Amino acid sequence: MELDWRVCSRARLSRDPRFDGKFYIGVVGSMVYCRPICPAPTAKEKNCRYFATAAAASEAGFRPCLRCRPECSPGTPAWLGTSNTVSRALRLIGESGLEDGGVESLAERLGVGSRHLRRLFLRHLGATPMAVAQTRRLHFAKKLIDETRLPMGQIAMASGFGCVRRFNAAIRKVYKRTPTQIRRLVRQKGTPSENQYRFRLNFRPLYHWEGALSYLAARATPGVEAVDNGCYRRTISLHGGDGYLEVSLDAEHDALVARIEFGDPQLLFFIVERVRAMFDLNADWATIVRTLKPDPSLAPAMEADPGLRVPGSWNGFELTIRAILGQQVTVKGATALAGRLAARFGMSFAGPPGLTHLFPTPEVLADANLAGIGLTGARAETIRTLARAVASGKIDFEGVVDTETFLQHLCEVPGIGKWTAQYVAMRALREPDAFPSSDLGLLRALKLKSYRELESRAEAWRPWRAYAAMYLWRMGARLSAEQGRLPKKSEKRNFGGLISRDQDSLAV
Ligand SMILES: [Zn+2]
Repeated sequence: MELDWRVCSRARLSRDPRFDGKFYIGVVGSMVYCRPICPAPTAKEKNCRYFATAAAASEAGFRPCLRCRPECSPGTPAWLGTSNTVSRALRLIGESGLEDGGVESLAERLGVGSRHLRRLFLRHLGATPMAVAQTRRLHFAKKLIDETRLPMGQIAMASGFGCVRRFNAAIRKVYKRTPTQIRRLVRQKGTPSENQYRFRLNFRPLYHWEGALSYLAARATPGVEAVDNGCYRRTISLHGGDGYLEVSLDAEHDALVARIEFGDPQLLFFIVERVRAMFDLNADWATIVRTLKPDPSLAPAMEADPGLRVPGSWNGFELTIRAILGQQVTVKGATALAGRLAARFGMSFAGPPGLTHLFPTPEVLADANLAGIGLTGARAETIRTLARAVASGKIDFEGVVDTETFLQHLCEVPGIGKWTAQYVAMRALREPDAFPSSDLGLLRALKLKSYRELESRAEAWRPWRAYAAMYLWRMGARLSAEQGRLPKKSEKRNFGGLISRDQDSLAV
């Protein structure tokens, strides 16, 4: 990625939070690298070097600043259109690090040569895949030192160093301090109980928290998810362990606060990355606005509600089941169905108010008798077929590299069509350009007559069509609320032949 030093310089001098995580400043002399928002006195321009990533700054010999804490900056935005391979690689490194097999196996999964991947990384991120993975690991270790009370031995393991000796050596080399000395620098508040962790996860403003929350609230599966008092809460289950998490807004710090209760600290990295994806914290609002706002049909909504994100999901399987339940019923109806499914087939869970169950596993749903929940026979069969495919490993929502192929496999399940696939791509695979163009709600929001018209209109919104969809749904919901009703049957009939069979036709 070519950094424009004039833009970087302006952002640095004004400490513009919209650029946080988009570049780093290395200060020659102190050899420290900072975020654009660093509160430390600004260095002279001639002493500043600009880097696209923390890893690049680190490779050039700079150390992370202890004041602005580069490990807390929002993630690298996805450079769609510039290099899909790099953004996919970053997603894979985020999901599982580079632990198994290193760069070679990463390149193989992406279908490119490892030398080519290295070149792509150097060109777009200014650092090798190995350096990017190592920086992430180090940053996460630093976050665990600062924000938790985990013993250092456990931090070494949880951040992927394998042993305390390597962890100590890496921290000392970079920070010129021992892990214990670093921990002494931060004053931790309160005494969290055992297995409880609290992380502050930064985003680049603007962030429309109310928008994210109300979207999730309408779709929250009773017993598994709950939204109240500005807080999203849900049960989680991972590698045989279970727990819950709670996410709320810390507007003052441009951050969300995630409170996690989970037994195995080894999985914290994965959980935190998943929360970051769920709440779309890597999105670069400034770039999205530039593409979408020129469209006069989107501009007023974007002006009224800036910073809307695409809410992701905790678990791709769960989201797909939820999408199937939502086919051709209201959001409210689908939520009730999901609640009945969870109460009947999910493991019970003793959690905070509102959380009573874990979402049912693929293994349980594979042979579940879904009669009595209120589903049609065909839809029950779709759920069982999907559950069997996931249980057998034929469909795997983790580490998806080739979205198109994945969606093709998904559509082989009878009852899953284009709408569901695009919805899954949007929310489970985090494809910013996914777009359920056969959605009646989208059509209604734009007062268009045909899906073809909608598709051609949406061309101008690439590569951010998923964000456009979020705005259109919000516009549709507002329209319905103003009219105080959902579309009548007669109106639905007007769209008769247009509704695809698997569509969540009232997903407004
Ligand atoms: Zn700094």
